[in-house]
This record gives sequence, C-alpha cells and structure tokens, in this order.
Amino acid sequence: MTPALYEDVIGQERAVAALRAAVLRPVHAYLFLGPPGTGKRAAASSFAASLLCPDGGDHSGGELCDDCRRVLAGVHPDVVEVEREGAYIGIDAAREVTRVAAMSPVEGERKVVVLHDFHLVRDTGPALLKTIEEPPPTTVFLVLAEHLPPELVTIASRCVPVAFDPLSTGQVVRALEAEGVHPDRARQLAVASGGRLDRARLLAGDPQFESRRNAWFGVPSRLDGTGAAAAAVADELVGFLDASVEPLKARQAAEVADLAERNAKAAEVRGAGPSPKRAAKAALGAGVKDLEDRHRREQRRQRTDELRAGLATLASAYRERLVAASDSRRRAEAVEAVREIDRTVRNLEFNPGELLALQALMSRLGRIAADPVRKGA
Ligand SMILES: [Zn+2]
Repeated sequence: MTPALYEDVIGQERAVAALRAAVLRPVHAYLFLGPPGTGKRAAASSFAASLLCPDGGDHSGGELCDDCRRVLAGVHPDVVEVEREGAYIGIDAAREVTRVAAMSPVEGERKVVVLHDFHLVRDTGPALLKTIEEPPPTTVFLVLAEHLPPELVTIASRCVPVAFDPLSTGQVVRALEAEGVHPDRARQLAVASGGRLDRARLLAGDPQFESRRNAWFGVPSRLDGTGAAAAAVADELVGFLDASVEPLKARQAAEVADLAERNAKAAEVRGAGPSPKRAAKAALGAGVKDLEDRHRREQRRQRTDELRAGLATLASAYRERLVAASDSRRRAEAVEAVREIDRTVRNLEFNPGELLALQALMSRLGRIAADPVRKGA
C-alpha cells in the first residue's frame, strides 16, 4: 500500500509544514539541508508528488491520485533523480543535470529535478550554477545535501533552504518499533546507526551487520606484514561489501514485484482500449527501466557507504591502539596507519576498484603496524 504524502518523514514537522505551504507558489529551487537519514529523500519524493499533483498533493482522508502514486513509486517521467555513481558528483552527473533541466515536461506543465548528495559536488559546482540559477520556468530543482561545503555555498544561495533536524536516538527507536522491530534491537540499531534512520532500517533487515563490523575492527591483529595475509584480508572485506548489498537487493525485488503488479492492472485497463495489444505492452513495461537504473545506483552507493563505514571502523581500531600504546614507536605506527586509511578514503574519488584499493591499503598497514605480539616486540 502506498503511504500518504510525508507519512514516511519522521520528526520533521517544521520542514513538512514549510513544504506543504510552498506548493501553492513554488520557486525554482529548494535546498534540503540536514544530516543523513533525516528524511530528505522521502520528503523530496512527497514534495515532488505535490508539485505534479492536480490537487497540489491535497488528498486528506482519501486515496492518492495516479500522479502522486507514480512519483512515490519512483516511476513518474516528470521527476528526474540525479545521483552519484561513485564517491562524488562527477562531471557526467553535472552534464546530465544540465541536459534534463532543459527538457520540457513529458506529461504535465512542470518537471522536478532532484539532485541527491550535493554536499559531494566538489569541482562540478561552477558548471551547475548557471543551470540551477536560471532553469526553464517549468523546472523545479530540489537540491539535497548533508552539509554545506564551500563548493555548494553559491548554489545554496540561489535556493530556498529547508532544514532537516537530526533525529534523536529515541525518535529512531520509536520509528523502528512502529515498523515491528523488537525494542531491545531497535535501541541497539539506533545507536549503531548514529541516529540515521535510513541506515538503521537497512541494518534491521541485515543479520550480518554485527559480524561485518567486528571483522573490520579485527583487521589490525590479522595483518602480519606478509603479502599473503594482506591479500586474504582484502578478499574477505570485499566479500563483506558483496554481502552488505543483499538486504538492499531483497527490498528492491519487492519494489520490482510491486511495480509489475501495478503495471499488470494498468495493462488490463488499457488492453480494453482502441489498440489493446500495444497499449497493454506499453503499460507492462512502464517505469521498469527507470526502476532498474535506480536500483543499480542504490547498490553502488550502498557499497561505497559500506566501504566508508568499514574504513571508519578500521581507523577507530587503530585509534584505540594509539590510546593504549605504551611506547612512542607504537604510537607513531598507529598514527601512520590512520593516515593511510584517510588517504584511501580520499582516493575513493578516483575509484581504482575496491579490491585493488583494499589490497594496497592492507599491505601498507601490514608493513607499518604489524601486530606487536607477532613481531615479538
Ligand atoms: Zn495527487
């Protein structure tokens, strides 16, 4: 069943009220600004629906209209989502923004372009400024960002800001409980996800989460300075990245089934029209490619996020060693290890491939900070 507009946006009454008011006279660009997992994506989806809805999204008490439903399902042709493929917003994504912004709406009088993760815009910012500043009158931009880096400041100044507040642990716990998660586990997940409801939800359906975290944390004691150990650890970590995508794939499969069911119903209706076979065929395929594209991007993003989270856990393991270190040589080793991990995180931008990056990192970590016990020191 499709939720009502904004029903899945938790604890953002101020932002939701602002967006409900804005739909009457929308401007050309909005900046949704707030930490990850605060509901920006869900709110953008509902706001986009209300912008394209013939009733301005006002379905209080009744069923959603066809436009609203298709926007929420992510299959409306006049909502274009631009997402990063790798760790940053690349020049390809920037070109895509400029291209789609110039196109006329397919169905109605308005088109909504949603720009995700724009705190990662980096040097593509200037190329995008003009497009976002002066879009065609039919285009509305929703720019989503977790914070405001210098590269985004000028773009942000051209947008109406909508602030999303961090969720408290209690709010995440209550949201998870309402979704059927056991109270004890809800509390664990809320803490482990750092108040990020999106990640907490994903972890709730991921039985391997804890063992993956432990494995990253245990890496330092497994590196003995040999290439064989480094290669084995890197292989295993890449295996964890694969495993972390499985819960997401399960959720996506449910979305595909949902769309197929809706399309089948539409095909039944349209199959009774003037050229039934063609119309029915078109209805069956509607939105399938968009959904598949979105799923592929979500999977790539999940891998990148998981890799970042893993590297952060690994860095925290070395920081603990730093605190516990009894002599200056050990302290220097731990500092150097954290530095190497930071370098790897920054280089994710250039995307040399996860396995290669991890192999290189593990062999360097093995050399500089091999387990002191095994060193016999
Ligand atoms: Zn509607």
